[in-house]
Order: sequence, then C-alpha cells, then structure tokens
Amino acid sequence: MVSKYNRNRSNITSLQPTYNICKFCAKRNDPSTKFKIYYSITNSYNEDLYDINQCFICRGLFTLINKIVKDIIYITTIRNKYEFRSYFLGSSIPASLFDNEDHFRSIFKIRGRENIKSAFNKQIRDISKKKLKKLLQPIKPDLMINLSILDNFEILIDLKPRSYYLIMRYTKKKFMTQNIKYLNSDKSESKEHIDEYSNHKISIETIVKKKLLEVTDSKDIKFTWIGAEDPNSLVLGKGRFFIAEIIAPQKRRINTNQVFKEDGIIFRIEEKRESIKKFNVNYISKIRAYVQTLSPITSQKLSLLRQLNNTVVTYRYKSKIVQKKIYKICAKKLDEYHFVVTFLADGGLFIKQFIEKQMFASNSLVSHMDNNCACIKFDILGIYLKKDRIDDF
Ligand SMILES: [Zn+2]
Repeated sequence: MVSKYNRNRSNITSLQPTYNICKFCAKRNDPSTKFKIYYSITNSYNEDLYDINQCFICRGLFTLINKIVKDIIYITTIRNKYEFRSYFLGSSIPASLFDNEDHFRSIFKIRGRENIKSAFNKQIRDISKKKLKKLLQPIKPDLMINLSILDNFEILIDLKPRSYYLIMRYTKKKFMTQNIKYLNSDKSESKEHIDEYSNHKISIETIVKKKLLEVTDSKDIKFTWIGAEDPNSLVLGKGRFFIAEIIAPQKRRINTNQVFKEDGIIFRIEEKRESIKKFNVNYISKIRAYVQTLSPITSQKLSLLRQLNNTVVTYRYKSKIVQKKIYKICAKKLDEYHFVVTFLADGGLFIKQFIEKQMFASNSLVSHMDNNCACIKFDILGIYLKKDRIDDF
C-alpha cells in the first residue's frame, strides 16, 4: 500500500512542482481541494504581479470580467443609448485556454467538470446582470451582446439589437410613387413627369424611412405594403397600411399614435409588434363597389344582400381554398340596372370574384341577387387592423 501511494505521488510531483491557478479555475477544477498542494492561488488582481503570477489555465481571463462589464455599460448606455429590457451574452475565448485546462486536467485526471468557457459565461452573466439591472433572457433578447476575446486578450464587443415592427398607415396629399422600383403607371401622369419624380428620388419609402431612422435610431428599415392598390381604386379613410421592420434599433420605446407630416404625406404609427408572421397581418377592408346588372333590380332582391352579414365566402385560388368573412354589407339602388354596395370584409378578398361569382366562389353577391352582376369599379374606403373598432361603418 505504501509503495503504491508513493509511486502515484512521485508521478505528479515530477511533472510539475507548482502551478499558479486563480481562485475561479481552482474552484472549478478542484472543488474539494484534493490537489491543493500542487498549486498556489494567484492574486492577479494586483496588476504589478499580473504577468508573473497569472493563472496557468485562464491567463487572467476571470479577473477581466469587471472591466468587460464596465465596457459593456459604457458602450450601451453612454457611447450609445440602447433601450433594452432584456439581453443575453455569449462569448468566444482563445483556444489556447481550453488547451491549458485540458493539460491541467490530464495531469490530475480531472473529468466531468464544467469547462472554462461555460464557467466564464456564467460568471460574466451574473456580474453583468447585477450591474445592468436588466433581464437576462436567452430567447429573443432585446439586445444580444457577443464578446470575442482574441489571443492577445483584446476584447471585441458586438451588439445586436433585435428588430421590431411598426404597423403604420399613410395618406398622401400629392402624387407620389409608393416605391421607386414600382412606379405607378397612372395614365394621367406623363412619362416625363414620373421620371422627374424618380430622378428626385421622392417616394413615400424614402420620406418615411428618413423619419423613422431618426425616431428609432436604427440601422435600416424594411417595408412591406399591405393590400394591393388597384390602379382604378382610391385609398380613402384612415389611409394605406404598411409594416416597417426596424433593423438594429437603439430606441425601442415607441410612442404609438404619433402622427408625422413630411413632404405632403401624413403617416402614423399605430402599433408596435415584437414579431410578425410575414404577410400574415389580419386586416379588414371597407369597400365600395359599383355594380351593373343584366336584369332590372328589385328592392326586395337588394335587401336580401343583408343575409350576407357575418357569412364566409369560399373560393379557390391557385389550388388553395380561400375563406374570407363578410362582416357587414349594405346596398343602395342607383337606377334600374345599377347599385352601389358597401361592405366590410377580410383583407385580401377578391372583390370582383365575390361580386361576379367567378371561379367557383360560394356565397357570392350574385347568388343572393339572382341576377348577373358586373363590378364596374370599386374603391377601398379604409383598411383596419382586425382589433380596430369598426363600428364607424
Ligand atoms: Zn484562472
């Protein structure tokens, strides 16, 4: 027994008389202080002693944590003014530190202990949470902080604020293209006229973008326009609806119902959302359509249209079955062969199909009128988010 003990002991001592290990690396690798006689705890907090005394495993990484947290606070709150309620922090550390730890562990046959990176992350998350006083949240944090610690211990801090979305509307007072790429082919505007606008790069996007960049202090803005504008339709009422994706914003506290008036367009922020399913914003359109019939209209038939209140229209589109709800409908006779119908329906309803019963639309206007109908023209009077009050119909 005695000889075996001596052999083991001499193996270790012959390899390394003493290691300098910081208290973090010692606690992590040797919590029961079994090997305490083979290493000393460094005090690398004293910068003069730092070089000669530095930890064999982490080379002083753990003593940098307070400084890194101070830098993070400086960058997020003083140099920039990031608004965030939650954050998360990830890091990459020099590969040589893993090698050091592997070496130390192989000598003392240490297995199954937490590794240096995971311990470092845990420690810096704990300290930063206390100092920043924000919620540490791994999934969808407002701000993602990525630390890179290079081989020479230079520290890079990269901040990635999460995008959010603003649901907005605009109304315009003067002619303007919605987007330079898709110039409006309005026949009343001459080619030269459109080019002139294009040359001046006046578009709603650029105007709105400029203002939103200022309001949100973001890097970029992406737009999604909701509900195609028919060239023959007007957009009246509360205005056209669009979504602005705010990319890498510093400001997250957004005052909704703000109204902006810039260069002849009026736009407002209606709602802020943290995420949005692309192209799946539920909205309701208020539509006014002018309809011509084949046989004379009777008031009795026209009043039957009321039966369409709160019904669902089903039709086939590109091998898909589409269902849209009609919330409220009312019609007014103009003359023997013409009437005007105003209705509230789910956004994206194919209006002509609903009125004329093309392509197997069930429950169409035609089927209630018992008369052949043709939609002459329709206007979008308003677009509402589904949660909006729509009782001003
Ligand atoms: Zn250490």
